[in-house]
Amino acid sequence: MSRALVVRAPMAWLAPGRTVEGAAIVIERGVITYAGTAAQAPEPRDVEAVDVDGFVLPAIADRHVHIGLADPAAVLMRGVTAVRDLGWPPDVIFPLADASELPSYNGPLIRAAGPMLTAPGGYPTRDRWAPPGTGLEVHDPGEAERAVRMLAARGAVAIKVALNAAAGPTLSDAELAAICRTAGEEKLPVVAHVEGPGQVERALGAGVRELAHTPWTEALPDRVVQALAKSIRIVSTLDIQSFGGDTPEVRTAVDNLRRFHEAGGVVLYGTDLGNGPIPPGVDVREVLLLAEAGLDPEEIVQAMARGPLERNAPGDLLALGRNPFEELDAFADVRLVVRAGRVAHRRS
Ligand SMILES: [Zn+2]
Repeated sequence: MSRALVVRAPMAWLAPGRTVEGAAIVIERGVITYAGTAAQAPEPRDVEAVDVDGFVLPAIADRHVHIGLADPAAVLMRGVTAVRDLGWPPDVIFPLADASELPSYNGPLIRAAGPMLTAPGGYPTRDRWAPPGTGLEVHDPGEAERAVRMLAARGAVAIKVALNAAAGPTLSDAELAAICRTAGEEKLPVVAHVEGPGQVERALGAGVRELAHTPWTEALPDRVVQALAKSIRIVSTLDIQSFGGDTPEVRTAVDNLRRFHEAGGVVLYGTDLGNGPIPPGVDVREVLLLAEAGLDPEEIVQAMARGPLERNAPGDLLALGRNPFEELDAFADVRLVVRAGRVAHRRS
């Protein structure tokens, strides 16, 4: 357990503007203690050295998954070492999130929102993919506030709300306001599933901090895009609209995200893994769609990275067989995955 790990590679991208040739990353007790040139790397006494002929990057975080519908081991093996679950029954997902911190867990680190807060009969309470408890129905603002307090106490990292007018009733403005106010007091972001005319504007007005999907049902007016870019982050989930095909929904979403990005909005990589045929691990199709939406390779890697490779950061990284800044589909060629200082996957 206390054995250190050093990963050496011909090239590494450590952080924006920090690409290093002849790189070494040293990880001790699950935390990075050095990231830089191999020539200057310290030599811990008891160390496992991994020399990888590839391009080292931070490991990937997927900010929108339903891990209960996926294979956690395959997710980890293909480069994703941390996920945020945005909708699952609390009695299942919070214990699983705790278990994912143990070295024996064969999967990514799981952080969870727990259930989606919704109106009685609202999304996802009648959706077949969602087991009972995935939606938590609230009947008034007081109940909405208590639900946020309960989820915060149970370890939620975000509060998910359903604003899906296409699938049934939605939370009232007063309930939404109570949720955003209470979540703010608990220092938790509110993440909204927004679907149907006018729902993006409602999320904006209430103080929602993130959209769980790039809006896909309609082209957003420019003034809405400008307002979104100032206050809301968007989790991309583009591939979920077409699964590699070409659909009006993915075209609309890519165009909305392109204008949001141009306006300075913050884009986070996320796939909605579990909710349809999204491949586990890095979804190369999602990466290529981010490029279509106008993100350059460094912006894409930033949107995907769990964080920079630097001292005191979590000991997570991956190595690709090729340089992703030259060929984005290099993400299909994952050679090495390290999670919390342990080699989780290695392929020569
Ligand atoms: Zn989802």
